[in-house]
Amino acid sequence: MYWRRMRTMTVEKREKTGTREWSEHSANLFTGCSHGCRYCYARADALRFKKILRPEDWRTMKIRPKEQSRVFKRRKGVTMFPTTHDITPETLDACTEYLKRLLAPGNRVLIVTKAHLVCVEHLCKALEPWREQIEWRFTIGAIRTATLKYWEPGAPGFSERWCAAVLAQTWARVSFSIEPILDIGAVVHLAERFADFGTVWIGKMNQVRRRVAIVTDEDERRVRAIEEGQTDEMIMELVRALKDVPQVRWKDSIRAVMARHGKASHGNDQTHHGGHEGHEGRRDDER
Ligand code: SF4
Repeated sequence: MYWRRMRTMTVEKREKTGTREWSEHSANLFTGCSHGCRYCYARADALRFKKILRPEDWRTMKIRPKEQSRVFKRRKGVTMFPTTHDITPETLDACTEYLKRLLAPGNRVLIVTKAHLVCVEHLCKALEPWREQIEWRFTIGAIRTATLKYWEPGAPGFSERWCAAVLAQTWARVSFSIEPILDIGAVVHLAERFADFGTVWIGKMNQVRRRVAIVTDEDERRVRAIEEGQTDEMIMELVRALKDVPQVRWKDSIRAVMARHGKASHGNDQTHHGGHEGHEGRRDDER
């Protein structure tokens, strides 16, 4: 079966970082993302490479003409979709057709999303012929509405993402990403809850002060809370608290902390499967 083969392949190995830990290929249909996450790696990259002129332009999603008519061949390994935007109600029809074209030659696809329930409902029906080739990965970094709304202002709240995951797990394989961690105090609870469904990837927020615009007092307070929550001490405490949850996988950002503290990538079978902090680590054919 597809996923059994994939798991073997994954365990055999890749000591890779970012989304490369999760997949061999990536695919994206849009430039920009209406979720507008404040820590977004893809936006920082788009600014750097002048694909957008101002940070606020990122929230307007523009279809990539070349991708719109792209014909996919069978690829070796897993393709992650999307990595530099998300699937939103406004882009759902286009994303559905794109996914069909990607899946049709037999490709395995990892769909990573801060899920809108309506999108998951629709895709589960539309992609039924290819369900064996699909894994869902739901990104949920906090529970509190205020925290999620600050960091990911255009994305659905906790309840909607959770309902989407509950629905999807009746249909295909499901896993989770707590990357970036948005509330260190909630991670153990989230990981234990998600572990009932499948693998749970956990990672830090990278390059916080470089990527997050700090303009107001609230920005400073929120950034400081992230920094205080991901000190080596806090991360090692988290590693210890979750050491008996075999579904947990530590992202490269946390494995680096573990290595510094003499706990190189092991514990919970941390044989590095991979994480979606704004799709970090991806500089591929789609950009
Ligand atoms: S982190 Fe992902 S979901 Fe958030 S704005 Fe960037 S691309 Fe969109």
